[in-house]
Amino acid sequence: MPEESFQEIREAVRALCRTFDSGYWQKADEQRAYPDDFVRALTQAGWMAALIPQQYGGAGLGLGEASVVLEEINRSGGNSGACHGQMYNMGTLLRHGSEAQKRHYLPKIASGELRLQSMGVTEPTTGTDTTRLKTMAVKKGDRYVVNGQKVWLSRVRHSDLMILLARTTPLAEVKRKSEGMSIFLVDIHAALGQGLTLRPIRNMVNHETYEVFFDNVEIPAESLIGEEGKGFKYILDGLNAERALIAAECIGDGYWFVDKATAYAKDRIVFDRPIGQNQGVQFPIAESYIEIEAANLMRWKACQLFDRHQPCAAEANMAKYLAAKASWEAANVCLQTHGGFGFASEYDVERKFRETRLYQVAPISTNLILSYVAEHVLGLPRSF
Ligand SMILES: Cc1cc2nc3c(=O)[nH]c(=O)nc-3n(C[C@H](O)[C@H](O)[C@H](O)COP(=O)(O)OP(=O)(O)OC[C@H]3O[C@@H](n4cnc5c(N)ncnc54)[C@H](O)[C@@H]3O)c2cc1C
Repeated sequence: MPEESFQEIREAVRALCRTFDSGYWQKADEQRAYPDDFVRALTQAGWMAALIPQQYGGAGLGLGEASVVLEEINRSGGNSGACHGQMYNMGTLLRHGSEAQKRHYLPKIASGELRLQSMGVTEPTTGTDTTRLKTMAVKKGDRYVVNGQKVWLSRVRHSDLMILLARTTPLAEVKRKSEGMSIFLVDIHAALGQGLTLRPIRNMVNHETYEVFFDNVEIPAESLIGEEGKGFKYILDGLNAERALIAAECIGDGYWFVDKATAYAKDRIVFDRPIGQNQGVQFPIAESYIEIEAANLMRWKACQLFDRHQPCAAEANMAKYLAAKASWEAANVCLQTHGGFGFASEYDVERKFRETRLYQVAPISTNLILSYVAEHVLGLPRSF
């Protein structure tokens, strides 16, 4: 299945990506600009709605197909991080929203009229220890009043809606720490200036992300998705798809690095021969290729299980782990192969190197995957 699968989708996404060349991404990176034209083109072509069922205006494709879209973007030299949220954030609404919510929002998300690019989970004082998050949503009549702070919320300025995880019952009052949190679909425009403030975080990559402050932000009670108190479970339900999709992005990056390194190693003549003739140069590239191919097998396993509605948490986590590791190692090899030129922006290597590094940390850090596998696959004692 892997490389040749879904060839039609690959060709179509590649053709679209060709119109956004390396100069386009370099300029966006230099200016720290959001790649608006690219995201619009991708949305208009319907790719961002890949996972939305046809009855709600989407393409109704499987996770395998959706993952190919993101893989091809990264493989073409682009960065799916600008828009991947639009593809998977809606999963929470799709799985747990009421029929009325789905009918209202999903067709507009599918057409791009509404952007659901933003998800608010991480908080500055609790980090990965999500169940201790402090943002509270208190019900008052037909509204919830939200107070708290989030950090690292991506694409908020290029999103109309935000999936927000907040406590509706204080931690001290629940039996299990995973209870008492709820999911809301927040209208960002309505909340901005009404207690919601944003502070951009300048960071290592061109990734739009913010500190977000909620100061008595009132949201309508019907913003609640599913049942009150079940929000943490709803977030977990969406993680398998997210992990497999991010794995595919890393696979795309990995192939990009290997192709780039291979081409340069054939081309660059030092000591009267191509540098790629030296085993010291060619072996690391070959090793990277092997590791990407292996990670890709796990990515396909995760996607296939997901699309057959079978349990796939272990495979999705392992695919993300292997792919993020392989792409990072390939990035390092590609940079080394290019010598000094690897540091020059015009080669794109240093940009992609920075971009792929993120996936060791977000949306989940490597240690947390290892801990999942240790506890849930190997049955080792729980450590936190
Ligand atoms: C560019 C960017 C975009 C992001 N976008 C979003 C977004 O849109 N929405 C959102 O909600 N979040 C977002 N995040 C947040 C991201 O999900 C978190 O940064 C990530 O989950 C790690 O959390 P933390 O930064 O709080 O690290 P911490 O929880 O402080 O952990 C720091 C380090 O310690 C390790 N660690 C912590 N506890 C343990 C333990 N018990 N055992 C072993 N190791 C441990 C972690 O693995 C990590 O390496 C984004 C982050 C970045 C950098």
